[in-house]
Amino acid sequence: MTAVLPPGVDTVLSVLRSSAVVLDEGDTVVKASSAAYALGLVRGGRLAVDQMLQMARETRRDGEIRQVELDLPRRGAGRGEGQAVSARVAPLGSRLVLLLVEDLTEARRIEAVRRDFVANVSHELKTPVGALSLLSEAVMDAAEDPEAVNRFAGRMQIEATRLTSLVQEIIDLSRVQDDDALVDAEPVAVDDLVAEAVDRCRQPANSKQIIMATGTTPDLFIWGNRGQLAAALGNLVENAVNYSPARTRVGIAGRRISAAGGDLIEISVTDQGIGISERDRERVFERFYRVDPARSRATGGTGLGLSIVKHVAASHGGEVTVWSAEGQGSTFTLRLPEAGRGRPAEPETGSDRPDRSVPSGRSDQDEPYDDLVDEEPTDDKLFQTLPEHIPAPEVLP
Ligand code: ADP
Repeated sequence: MTAVLPPGVDTVLSVLRSSAVVLDEGDTVVKASSAAYALGLVRGGRLAVDQMLQMARETRRDGEIRQVELDLPRRGAGRGEGQAVSARVAPLGSRLVLLLVEDLTEARRIEAVRRDFVANVSHELKTPVGALSLLSEAVMDAAEDPEAVNRFAGRMQIEATRLTSLVQEIIDLSRVQDDDALVDAEPVAVDDLVAEAVDRCRQPANSKQIIMATGTTPDLFIWGNRGQLAAALGNLVENAVNYSPARTRVGIAGRRISAAGGDLIEISVTDQGIGISERDRERVFERFYRVDPARSRATGGTGLGLSIVKHVAASHGGEVTVWSAEGQGSTFTLRLPEAGRGRPAEPETGSDRPDRSVPSGRSDQDEPYDDLVDEEPTDDKLFQTLPEHIPAPEVLP
């Protein structure tokens, strides 16, 4: 005779997130959720995982609730690690046993990321702190030699600056991870974001004679958190300048594109720099990942910039993508929801795989190039605007 479930149990099981299995006195499965079947817990009307079956029998005997964490063998090809689950067994009425199983894969992944992050942060902080300690010893030893003291003090300043920017970026990262970007959302003008990013990078760009050329469609607004968006675009432009040789161009372009769920704003930052290999392209958005740590350190890089950009894009319901060719340059593209949707969408411009060179600003195009920055005459040559319809950047598939 098949056992009958107590009234209401069926409904409760159907709303639970966990996989649920009910066993009768003879270990036969009386009820199992579809998630339990999907996990492979039930096969041929029986509980397929020995350890869980054992627990269920013990609970039936003594009425005690039991809990265990275990790895289920991977199904299918049988390769890779097992699937981590937490199983809890409790008596149900006088004759049945209820087994609830939670998938721990996501919780384990988050824990691993957190552990890695803490290890990385400690390592990254130790480097400048160690250098400062050594340099201070060197200053003490060189007390009689003012020239050496000066030199060491200069190095200490560099390490202190590094430490400050590292701490600042860690704070920024945790802020963009914790904040709900859209709580303080407002329409943010793309022109303002671009001008701010150019401003932030003006000094390093000037010293390398890198031309920053901007071109945005007028009246573009993104719906989001102004500070976070400015930080994200600033990081992209800063990288474009840092990873480009002298006398090259960085193009920053904004335009509206139509997409299925409404118009999007696309901001692309294109450089003619060192580029990123295919292997590294997948990893540059990871926290602390640097293709060449020595070079990145020399430019004051922390390895956190792109992970901040990625978080900001995601929390705004957008994305960031990269196209790059080694030795030729890179294009990072942010796509974000437009503020005040409902305005008529413009037809898309640009072809599928357009010329991705940074527009020279010296071509024979119809539109004149206005100077973007005119308050500093010496910079005039370095900051130019682009025509509105600059080539769309290429994006990885
Ligand atoms: P960093 O502070 O080191 O610049 P990011 O997270 O901003 O850290 O970038 C991660 C890595 O990606 C950099 O160390 C660099 O190797 C690579 N990278 C980022 N932007 C560019 C770019 N525009 N051109 C070439 N390499 C880049």
